[in-house]
Amino acid sequence: MSHPLDFYPSIGTHELPFDGVSLSTLTEIPKVDLHRHLVGSIRPEVLVYIANRLNITLNGFGNDPKRIARASVLSKPVPNGYEHFLRKRIWAGFKGIFSDPRGIHNAVYWGIADAARDGVIYVEFRVAPNSREFNPLLPLSLEEYIDAIRTGVKVARRDFPKTVAKIILSVGRSGVIERWGDLADRRRRFQKLAESTLTNRDIVVGLDLTGNEDRYSNDLFQDFCEIVKSAGIPLTVHSGETGNPKSVWEALDKLKVDRIGHGIGAVNDPELLATLAELRIPMEICPTSNIILSVARSFVDHPVKEFLEKGLCVTINTDDPVLLGPTTLSNEFLHLIKSGIITVEGMGRITSQSISASFATEVEKSELTARVDDFFSGRPALTASLGHV
Ligand SMILES: [Zn+2]
Repeated sequence: MSHPLDFYPSIGTHELPFDGVSLSTLTEIPKVDLHRHLVGSIRPEVLVYIANRLNITLNGFGNDPKRIARASVLSKPVPNGYEHFLRKRIWAGFKGIFSDPRGIHNAVYWGIADAARDGVIYVEFRVAPNSREFNPLLPLSLEEYIDAIRTGVKVARRDFPKTVAKIILSVGRSGVIERWGDLADRRRRFQKLAESTLTNRDIVVGLDLTGNEDRYSNDLFQDFCEIVKSAGIPLTVHSGETGNPKSVWEALDKLKVDRIGHGIGAVNDPELLATLAELRIPMEICPTSNIILSVARSFVDHPVKEFLEKGLCVTINTDDPVLLGPTTLSNEFLHLIKSGIITVEGMGRITSQSISASFATEVEKSELTARVDDFFSGRPALTASLGHV
């Protein structure tokens, strides 16, 4: 059986260095990813590797990575990409893995391994609360599920000590509206999420809303926000991903979010841009994801350019680096630099902003900042050759 690190994909390494910047240079630079879904980060080959080792059958795919890739990966821009992506059979491949604590901790381990390989020093993975309190088809309780995630993080920390990983529990809008019960039932489940987040603060650092924001708008989730905020838990929400500025306004005014996932719909609303800049709300920008889902045309035309010009607090992230792309965080920065949107100096600034915007503790933020500073101060030749930083 081949080992996952034997078939790590060589994304973009065929590209010639651009203005002194190559992918391998950017891979060396410490980076931070605040918006990365765990399920979207596991390569089909790795999924099969885990399943085979644990004797798990991946529903309907015959443990064949090519079949899994065909059913779940989008590698080229598609019209109405978001709707298309929602219809992909991603969960089918993962159900067996997420029903077994060993599957969960292996998935987390390999998600972190790939981030470490890319020079990511801090990552917040989003995972759905895949437990029986929220999905009766699953066997584990939320506590058992979080414990399995913690095991994966611990083992990965031993093997990849330079990468710190945390978890954001990500609640799907459609699941809440279509499958949860009445308002009292919703409240009980939201409270369970908040309680588990508070009791597992070492690993779970925040909560998120994801899914179709046009069908189920943010104002339907004010009870969620009240519970989360009154518990003092950081909140980020997917908003304005498909171009709707109203969704971003609602995230700010009604959900009182700490960060915005994507938010690119704000680009057509000057008042909203000014408000986001003034409030310094961190924007979790994921360029390749937006391009593949056809909500942005290209790197050159991506709204992040205007966000930076208007002084918004921009962070750069990968979203679903395997399912949409594939990409890596280094690859995202390479494209933004090649498109003339940022410089390597700007990349350093964005990494610092990402550290500040993260849901890490103040002590962890200081340690991460020191590591980034150390990296650059110890490499005058690198910074001189790049002419920046
Ligand atoms: Zn996302």
